[in-house]
Parts: sequence; structure tokens; C-alpha cells
Amino acid sequence: MKELFDLKGRRALVTGSSRGIGKGIAMALADAGADVIIHASSEGSRMSETVAEIEAAGGKAVGIAADLSDDVQIDELIKKVEHVDILILNASIQSYQNVENFSSEEFQREYKVNLESTFKLIQGFVPSMKDRGRGRIITIGSVNQYKPAYRLSIYSTTKAAQVNLMMNCAKEYASFGITVNNIAPGVILTDRNSGILADEGFRQKILEMVPAGRFGDLTDCAGLALLLSSDAGSYITGTDIPVAGGMQL
Ligand code: NAP
Repeated sequence: MKELFDLKGRRALVTGSSRGIGKGIAMALADAGADVIIHASSEGSRMSETVAEIEAAGGKAVGIAADLSDDVQIDELIKKVEHVDILILNASIQSYQNVENFSSEEFQREYKVNLESTFKLIQGFVPSMKDRGRGRIITIGSVNQYKPAYRLSIYSTTKAAQVNLMMNCAKEYASFGITVNNIAPGVILTDRNSGILADEGFRQKILEMVPAGRFGDLTDCAGLALLLSSDAGSYITGTDIPVAGGMQL
């Protein structure tokens, strides 16, 4: 089996990999031998630290910044990267607000970063995957794509739409050796939720929603992403897999 998980010679772009779940996935792919492109919204982020961490562990990585709410920066990212064997669409934003108070500007921003950039990056990299007769695309969703979540309607909507795009792409590109799958995390401890989970009462309330009785860590999503990125996952396409300790149930 080891050979099937070997990613030597494969080139991977993981969006939003300066920290959090994306970083965990990028480190796992680098550990399996892939050349990894670490991405963040801007140069001033933790992107270079993550590149240095991968290099220190003996892996290969470069950093490229692009704000995914900006079409011009997405086009530049595609031009700079040129081609990838593995495309992990992980970056997203979320804003807690009731629907009636959600501004059109914020709706546009979430729509662009969470959904339209997924479409644009797939569109940008699929042609070279087709030429090579091989490709792996993984979108990162959320348990919120299944269940309404208080004040997260727009985020949840973008994630649900992304799953539909994933399934359509999976069917469209299966015959080209390209697999497309979605990973739906539950609560994984990252910067994103460190603030809200600092409130002990709220933390306990959320924990009670997780049958496994614990929150996830970065390795929980990374293992599945490695399988779906590797030759071991070549017959898995169009799937949506929760990594949530049962929280989706
Ligand atoms: P995070 O810690 O907030 O990190 C977000 C990453 O996305 C960072 O690398 C950030 O770059 C990048 N990013 C943010 N806005 C961007 C923009 N406009 N353009 C380009 N990149 C941008 O996130 P996370 O918690 O690891 O979540 C990763 C994914 O898992 C997301 O899709 C999220 O929806 C999903 N998810 C997470 C959880 C959870 O419990 N953590 C649960 C369900 C789903 P900078 O460093 O430059 O800001």
C-alpha cells in the first residue's frame, strides 16, 4: 500500500494553508513527498512560517499569496502556479449574522471566497489535469452544509452549493482520471473558532453536539485528504465525507 500513498513528483496547491486545516493538509501532502504550494490571503500572513516548517521537516514548499475575493488575484495565482496534480480548495470566510442584517457586500465576499473562487480555480487547473490524464480536486465543506446553523446561513449556503459543484465536476471529469471529492469538517480546533470556544459554557454546549466527545485536530482532516489525493483514492469520486466525530448525525 505504501507506494499508493506516495506523492513524490506530484504538485499540490492548498488554498488557505498558512494555518489551520489547510496547513495540516499541506504538511501531510509534503510529508508524503508532494511539492506543495502554500497559499494565504496576503504576504503578511503566516505563509512563510508554514513554508519554513515544511522545509525544516525535509519537504518542498513555496508560498504564493492571493486574496480569493479578488478575480484579478485569482487569475494571477493560476498563472503563477501553472499546473497542479492536486488542488485542495480549503480557504473560506464566515461571518456570524442574521439573514435580515447580512449586508450585500458581505454576501458577495463570502460568495466569492467560498464558492466562486472554487469554480474559478477548478476552471483554471482542470485543462492541464485533463492533458495529463490525472488530477485530484478536494473541496472543503462543513457540517453546516447539512444543518442550519444559527447566524451562519450564508456561509452554510455557500458550502452546500460547493458540494453540488463538486458532484457535477466529479461526473464531468471522471473519465479523464480526475477525482473530485468534498471533506466536511465538524469542529476542528483552529484560529477560526478559538475565540468563540474560549467561552467555557459555549464550548460545553457545542461539545455535547459531538457524539465522539471531542473536537477534531488538524490530523483528522489531513489523513482523509491524503487518501483522496493519492493513487489509493483513484476510484473514489463524487463523495462527501464528514470528518466530524458524528456531529453531522
Ligand atoms: P482558518 O484557521 O480561519 O484559516 C483560513 C485560511 O484561509 C487562512 O490560511 C487564510 O489566510 C485563508 N483565507 C481567508 N480568507 C481568505 C481570502 N480572502 N483569500 C485567500 N485566503 C483566505 O480556517 P480553518 O478553521 O482552518 O478552516 C479551513 C476550512 O475548513 C474552511 O473552508 C472552513 O470553512 C472549513 N471548516 C472549518 C471548521 C473548523 O471547525 N475549523 C469547521 C467546518 C469547516 P490568511 O492567513 O492570510 O488569513
